[in-house]
Order: sequence, then C-alpha cells, then structure tokens
Amino acid sequence: MTGLMQGKRGLIMGLANDKSLAWGIARKLHEHGAELAFSYQGEALAKRVKPLAESLGSDFLVECDVANMEAVDACFDQIRERWDTIDFIVHAIGFSDKNELRGKYVDTSLENFLMTMNISAYSLVAVTKRAMEMMPNGGSILTLTYYGAEKVVPHYNVMGVAKAALETSVQYLANDLGPQNIRVNAISAGPIKTLAASGIGDFRYILKWNELNSPLRRNVTIEDVGGSGLYFLSDLSSGVTGETHHVDAGYHVVGMKQEDAPDI
Ligand code: NAD
Repeated sequence: MTGLMQGKRGLIMGLANDKSLAWGIARKLHEHGAELAFSYQGEALAKRVKPLAESLGSDFLVECDVANMEAVDACFDQIRERWDTIDFIVHAIGFSDKNELRGKYVDTSLENFLMTMNISAYSLVAVTKRAMEMMPNGGSILTLTYYGAEKVVPHYNVMGVAKAALETSVQYLANDLGPQNIRVNAISAGPIKTLAASGIGDFRYILKWNELNSPLRRNVTIEDVGGSGLYFLSDLSSGVTGETHHVDAGYHVVGMKQEDAPDI
C-alpha cells in the first residue's frame, strides 16, 4: 500500500459482482487506503454487493437506479448524511436492451435509444451535478467507455452512440467543473467478460479479435483497469482532465489485422 488514497473517500457506482470493472477499481483504491461507499441497482444486486463491500472494509451501501432522478437525489442525500464531503466518484454504469445489441444499428427503436442514452450517458451528468456539491476542495470523477464510441464495432450499435455522448460529456463536464478543481475523465477499456458484456452479440469474437490484434497480443483485465483508475482518482493525475484514456492493450492504435493473427 502506498497511501496514495489515504484520507480520500468516494462512491463506487456500478458494482454488480467480482467480474465488474468497478470491482477492479474498488479493490485497487482500497489497497491504497481509500474509504469506499457503494451504490447498487435494486435489492437483487444488494446481496452480491454487500459481501464484496465488506471484504473492502465498507458497510456503506446505498440503492440508486440512475434512470430515476428522485432515486439519484435520495442516494446523494444518504451519502451526505454520513459524509459531508467526498473526493471521488466511479461511474461504471451502462445499459441497453440486449435485443438491440445484435443486428444493425439502423433498427434501433426510439424507446431503447432514449433509455440507453439516459442510463449510459445522461446519468454521468446527473451524478456529477450532485457529486460536485460535495466536493468543495476539488475531486475526481471517472467513467468507463469503450472503443465502439470511436469506430464501428459490430453489434455495439446504440451503445456506441451513447458512449460517444458519454465521452463528449466528459469533456464538457471537465470544462464546467475545472474552475472548482474537479477533474472528469474516462477510461476506454478493452473488452472484458462481465455481466453487461454478455448482452453484446458475438462478444466472444470481439474478445478473440482484440487478443490476437492488439499490440500487447492479449486482452486487458479488471486489474489493468484498476491500476489506471487509481491514477485518475489519486493526485497522480492532478493535471489531467477531460481525457479518454485507453486501457485496451493498445488496440486503438492498430489499423489492420496483425500479420501473425490467425483467421478466426
Ligand atoms: P457490469 O455488468 O459488471 O456492470 C454494469 C453495471 O451497471 C451494473 O452494476 C448494473 O447494476 C449497472 N446499471 C445498469 N443500469 C443501471 C441503472 N439504471 N442504475 C444503476 N446502475 C445500473 O459490467 P461492466 O462491464 O463492469 O460495466 C461497467 C461499465 O464499463 C459500463 O459502463 C460498460 O459499458 C463499461 N465498459 C465495459 C467493457 C467490457 O468489455 N466489459 C469495456 C469498456 C467499457
């Protein structure tokens, strides 16, 4: 432990289980001395999140469905009852109807477009607005995005469009909150097998393709994401805001299939 996060406390949003990207980040923050609260979506997830939180010394769990603004208000009211200030937020939340994460983007329904945008992009704005009021001495807000925002990844569809809105929101929020020394950044993680990822059509193919074609010739882990999360949420990145940082084994710099990659 380095003490990098000693004296810092914050909220982890989007922990579902021990495969979650949020878990990789939470574990790393805990290792370096952070005090953590966790929000969960619905009672079914509470049962999974509670023991994980306890294993990191936290009994601070709050319910929060980010699609419901009253629930987001209630969540921050509960945080404020126990902590008058916070130093960081991890926003690791995304959702779309899995029937629209296959086939073609052109078939996206208006209803699912709006829901996906709301939960996967607008929620960062809603959370940031409430969190900034609890960051009088500055802070760091981190969200999770994916390469499908920049380039077409088959089946990622409406989620790619929502992630593009999320990445642009990071820039606008960074500019709004910069004068208060609140930094807003995103990690663009390579594909990792999680509950959310299992909803994406042909995800196994995406994983294999990235493994064979990224410069490091491997997929990333939640530990890789956790390490970069620690950088963004600690003072190590004190001069960095508005950034989308790739933790993808370098995949985003590659323009074509690697010569040594077999056909899959
Ligand atoms: P996950 O299933 O472990 O986490 C997704 C979380 O979103 C869950 O905890 C779920 O409860 C939460 N969520 C969904 N709808 C919500 C709502 N209405 N209110 C509150 N919470 C809600 O999967 P993950 O892969 O760890 O996803 C975390 C983030 O990482 C997502 O934004 C995802 O798009 C992003 N990401 C994932 C990958 C990947 O390959 N797994 C790659 C890049 C980015």
